[in-house]
Amino acid sequence: MSQSLNYPFPEPPAEGATLEVAPGIHWLRLPLPFALDHINVWLLEDGDGWTLVDTGLGTDQTREHWQAVAGLVLDGQPVRRIVVTHYHPDHIGQAAWLAETHDAVVHLTDGEMAHARRVHGMADEEAGARLAELFAHHGLDTDRANALRQRGNTYRRLVPRIPDRHVTLGDGDTLAIGDRHWRVVVGRGHSPEHACLYSESGDQPVLIAGDQVLPKISSNVSVRPEAEHEDPLGEFLASLERLGALRSGTRVLPSHGGVFEGLPERCAALMHHHEAHLERLLGVLSQPGTAADMLPVLFRKGLDNHQIMFAMGESVAHLRHLEVRGLVERDGDEPVRFRRVD
Ligand SMILES: [Zn+2]
Repeated sequence: MSQSLNYPFPEPPAEGATLEVAPGIHWLRLPLPFALDHINVWLLEDGDGWTLVDTGLGTDQTREHWQAVAGLVLDGQPVRRIVVTHYHPDHIGQAAWLAETHDAVVHLTDGEMAHARRVHGMADEEAGARLAELFAHHGLDTDRANALRQRGNTYRRLVPRIPDRHVTLGDGDTLAIGDRHWRVVVGRGHSPEHACLYSESGDQPVLIAGDQVLPKISSNVSVRPEAEHEDPLGEFLASLERLGALRSGTRVLPSHGGVFEGLPERCAALMHHHEAHLERLLGVLSQPGTAADMLPVLFRKGLDNHQIMFAMGESVAHLRHLEVRGLVERDGDEPVRFRRVD
């Protein structure tokens, strides 16, 4: 689907430097040691201090990065608040350390905090087993399921500590930060209760989108082992519809990729992307198939063990959504196969 997004800042800020992307809002990029090699975090002028939005992975590398840039980018002013959009490691990783270092308060939704605590607290055996069992149940072969089982609790390796306390954010809440008012807009499907921040203060509306809307890639949408009854893709599509209805001139600040304009077009393109995946699945499900059988239908290239985890999650989420829509039904239960309802 064609979409023309406008990128007002063609180049990201240089390493260790910030770029002001709207009055009082500064873009800082932190490294990630993955194929997705960066996360964008946002520094908001907040009176005589700062509010940070997202924090990077809880690794030594990211901490050293913060230490190196703190003097430069924070200009000697204290950090007062840390807003965490959602529980994923690249967003919450340094929140506990930054809060302690700056005596700042962490803000996030209760849904994200509860999930962070639950995942962080799982023993290696339990964390590995839950994912392996879910995916084996959906047809993943024993070798690849065992490889996932042996990964253990990868979350805790990237998030050594969860903040002890937090202030709760909820959908519709408003935050006054510096001269701006921000409304919390909760999105779902990528994570349980993801907070986006939307401001109409100033000449141009601004959306801090987290991972809920990204300009170049689609956010991972996975069924979680403890929530097989849910419909994360349905929730994600509903969230895109809601975000796509915000003002069309909005400047969007995503966690990955560049700052862009064209929010309604991007939301529509992402919805179209998922609808096309659903169509493709329906096209082959005249014969019953498992989520594992559907990997080559949804993903064209070979997948390593790390990618398998995301790909299986996506495949199950798409099949589950077709089931919720009444377009497929289960056919056999170990492994689970789905068949198109004709
Ligand atoms: Zn995320």
